[in-house]
Amino acid sequence: MSTYDYIIVGAGSAGCVMANRLSANPKNQVLLLEAGPEDRNYWIHVPVGYGKNVSNTAVNWCMESEPEEYLYGQRYFLPRGKVLGGSSSINGMVYVRGQVEDYDQWAQMGCRGWSYDDVLPYFRKAEHNERGESEIHGVGGPLGVSDVIDKSIIYDAMIEAGQEIGIPYNDDINGRVQEGIGYHQATIRDGKRCSTAVAYLNPAKKRPNLRVEADAQAKHVIFEGKRAVGVAYDRKGTPQEARAGTSVILCGGAFASPQLLELSGVGQPERLKDLGIAVTHELPGVGENLQDHFVVRMRWRIKNAETLNERVHGLRALGEGIKYYLQRKGALTLPTLPIGAFVRTRPELATPDVQFQIFPGSYKAIEDRKLDKEPGVTNGVTMLRLEGRGHVHAKSADPKAQPGIWHNMLATENDRRTTIAGMWMARRMMEAPAMQPYMSFEMTPGPEAQDDDAFLEYARRTGASNWHPAGTCKMGTDPMAVVDPSLKVHGLDGLRVVDASVMPNVVCGNTNAPTIMIAEKAADMILAS
Ligand SMILES: Cc1cc2nc3c(=O)[nH]c(=O)nc-3n(C[C@H](O)[C@H](O)[C@H](O)COP(=O)(O)OP(=O)(O)OC[C@H]3O[C@@H](n4cnc5c(N)ncnc54)[C@H](O)[C@@H]3O)c2cc1C
Repeated sequence: MSTYDYIIVGAGSAGCVMANRLSANPKNQVLLLEAGPEDRNYWIHVPVGYGKNVSNTAVNWCMESEPEEYLYGQRYFLPRGKVLGGSSSINGMVYVRGQVEDYDQWAQMGCRGWSYDDVLPYFRKAEHNERGESEIHGVGGPLGVSDVIDKSIIYDAMIEAGQEIGIPYNDDINGRVQEGIGYHQATIRDGKRCSTAVAYLNPAKKRPNLRVEADAQAKHVIFEGKRAVGVAYDRKGTPQEARAGTSVILCGGAFASPQLLELSGVGQPERLKDLGIAVTHELPGVGENLQDHFVVRMRWRIKNAETLNERVHGLRALGEGIKYYLQRKGALTLPTLPIGAFVRTRPELATPDVQFQIFPGSYKAIEDRKLDKEPGVTNGVTMLRLEGRGHVHAKSADPKAQPGIWHNMLATENDRRTTIAGMWMARRMMEAPAMQPYMSFEMTPGPEAQDDDAFLEYARRTGASNWHPAGTCKMGTDPMAVVDPSLKVHGLDGLRVVDASVMPNVVCGNTNAPTIMIAEKAADMILAS
């Protein structure tokens, strides 16, 4: 059996950061295990290739939720990256950090050392922002962050329309004030996706003290008493074991990390016994506190302006392909959401509670993810602070079986009220004067939806997870916390969790940059200890 200092499970947004930073010290022997393959799929690296891999099982776990109680028993489609780079290799590349208040609240919840002022240096350390260095942004870090280069009159019109209904213009939604509408920045460098595999792993791969094993799926952590001493895994169908002298670090993401803990006997004893798993350590919070964002997609047919739809069909697609190949320009460089907004649905709120995720195209039917041929845009009206909590638990002792995932979205009156208010705001924005030259008609929910009940009905029928699961191994010091603020699993030695699952509350915004920040800070803490 090979022995390492650190074994990292999962080469996703967090795992690749950990592998780079820990192996930067040549004294550390590091093993990185990833269930998926190398990131050779061409479409991973072309920004608009997002559409190709969002349901490609070669690089994506393509999970599914359990029937959602408050949404007519819908099962959500839940893509997760299964490839080097993890979800950062298949995500929408939108660079969003969340609100200052998110992190101050983490600190307030008992996570000392995680206030905004504490985490800002790690956002800056990770980043190479093409806008240059500032108090908020960093340069020289591994993660390329760039402005949208393929701008369009339709985005400008929507930004103006937002201002016409009272949303302030915001040039940097990652600044100290998140509220406002404007262009996003994206994790794109030189026209190509900057996943954590590209940013962090590729520069470190040649180090003799780092071993990266793709197609290697961890089955469980190996314990001696209460100390984690290794990992059992399958590599290309062959059972293997590796030993960790210092620490096993789980970076499997918000669904896989709690499942792996349960498969290793860490969790709620009754649940484990039901699955026939011997209890290593009782920890009631494992898999609880699932939080995500809830998105309702409203779509409009557009006139007198181009959208992504027409540009990626037929001969136009060929032209865009050539332009991208020769110049790294055009439609293929687009992140999913070139523009967006963070809004307050009630003036008395201190900070935004809804995000407008503005996609420059429209799907024929939301389920089949095929773009319309005629011009269209989509506003994914996204609830940032749902009150409902869900959970994730192993349904079988078989590591290859998907865990059960329950979100409980729209479970509370406040969640429903916020959803409806956000949808009305989105409609008002699209009907504002600046949009008049371009507005053809509202496709969904459509003009027949004229009251709150009709909006709620649409949200219940078509709303979905925004693919930002977090919180299932939450950090904290209360009895339901799974890891402490140094991300060590409570009550065990030699075991940490470092990924989106440790967020005590999901941040108000997309979760890739916050997860990278978590890993940067975790690596610093580990190296300092
Ligand atoms: C389709 C999609 C679009 C998104 N768009 C955006 C966006 O535009 N902007 C944004 O900020 N966020 C976005 N997100 C969210 C963001 O990408 C995730 O929150 C973030 O990547 C989570 O990082 P992680 O390290 O926690 O998990 P992941 O990046 O998912 O990494 C987990 C890794 O662990 C591996 N793994 C799991 N189980 C095992 C095992 N047993 N053995 C070995 N390896 C294992 C997985 O294969 C995976 O590679 C999106 C997510 C998805 C899925």
